[in-house]
Amino acid sequence: MFHSARLTLTAWYLLMIMIVSLLFSTVVYRALTLEFERFERMQRVRIQQKLETEQALPPPPDNLRPRIRAVLIGGPSPELIQEAKQRLLIILASVNTGILLIAGGVGYFLAGRTLHPIQDMVDEQNRFISDASHELRTPLTALRTSLEVYLRDKSPAITDARQLISDSLQDVEQLQSLTDSLLQLSQFQKPETPPLEAIQIKDILKSALRKVKPLALTKNITLTDRSKDCTVMGNMTALTEVFMLLLDNAIKYSPSDTVVTVSSEQKDSVVKVSVEDKGVGIDEQDIPHIFERFYRADNSRTKNKTHGYGLGLSIVKRVIELHNGTITVKSKKNKGSVFTVKLPLA
Ligand code: ADP
Repeated sequence: MFHSARLTLTAWYLLMIMIVSLLFSTVVYRALTLEFERFERMQRVRIQQKLETEQALPPPPDNLRPRIRAVLIGGPSPELIQEAKQRLLIILASVNTGILLIAGGVGYFLAGRTLHPIQDMVDEQNRFISDASHELRTPLTALRTSLEVYLRDKSPAITDARQLISDSLQDVEQLQSLTDSLLQLSQFQKPETPPLEAIQIKDILKSALRKVKPLALTKNITLTDRSKDCTVMGNMTALTEVFMLLLDNAIKYSPSDTVVTVSSEQKDSVVKVSVEDKGVGIDEQDIPHIFERFYRADNSRTKNKTHGYGLGLSIVKRVIELHNGTITVKSKKNKGSVFTVKLPLA
C-alpha cells in the first residue's frame, strides 16, 4: 500500500512539474521565435536600405548554403532562422526530458519522505490494536473457560458458584482497568495538548496522594509529602493522573511498612518532582524499556503478584511530553527507585 501511494504521489509531483516546465518552454519557444523573425525582418530592411543608398554588389545567389549566404549579405536567411528554431526545439525537448528524469527521482524521494510519518503512524496503530487485542484475549479466555467448566458440571455446589462469580468479577475488574488504561492512552495519543492552566504543583501532588492513600494503607506504607509550592502551566487532570500512576507503582512495587516520598524542587525555569520508594527496584536492562507500551519488567517475584498491564508508564511519558517536560528514573535492585519529572515553570 505504501509503495503504490508513493508511486501515485510521485506521479502527481511529476505531473505538476511537467505542466509548469512545458508551459515555460512553450513561452520561451514562442518568445524566441518571434524575436528571430523580428531580427530577420530588421536585418532585411537594413540591408535593402544599404543596397539602395550605396552602389552595392549584387546579392549572392540563393543556392549558396544558408550560413555563407547570410555572411555575404550581412544578415540571417529564412533557412538559418528555421534551423535556429529547430535547434531551440531540440534544446527545449532535451531540457524537458532532463527535468522529467530528475523530477521523477526527486519526486519519488520526496514522496517517500512525505509518506513515512503516515506509514509510521499506521504501523503504530496496528501494533497498538494487536497488543491490546492480545492483552484482552488472555483474561477473556480464562473467564470463558471457567464459565464453561462450571456449566458442564451436572450438579454444581452453591459454594462453587459463589467462588466462580467472585473470580469472574475479579477478571471483569481487571478487564475494566485495562480498557480504562487503553482509552486513556488513546486520548493522550492525540497530537493536541489538553487545555493548560496555571496550577500549583502542591495541589496536584495533594490530590494524587489522596487518591492512592487507601492502597498505601493496605500495605501500611507511609506517604511523605516534601513538596514546595510553585506554579506550572499544565492540565490538572492529566498531571494528577501522572503522579497517581507513579505513586501507585511506588506502592505496588514496595514491601509493606516502607516509606514513599514525594518532593519537589525549583531550579532555574523548571520544577523537579520526584517520587521515591524503597521497593524492589528495576533491573538495569529493563530501565530503557519500562516506558514502552505493555512492557512489564521481569521482576518475576512481583510480576505475578502485582496487577498491571504495563501501560501506566507509557501514559505518564506521553502526558509529560505533552507538557514539554521530561521523565527519568534511577533505580537499584532491592534498594528502590526514584522517578523524576521535570516540568517548565509557568
Ligand atoms: P504496570 O501496570 O506493570 O505497573 P507500568 O507501565 O506502570 O506498568 O510499569 C512498567 C514496569 O516498570 C512495571 O511492570 C514494573 O516492572 C516497572 N516499575 C514501574 N515502576 C516501578 C517502581 N516504582 N519500582 C519497581 N518497578 C517499577
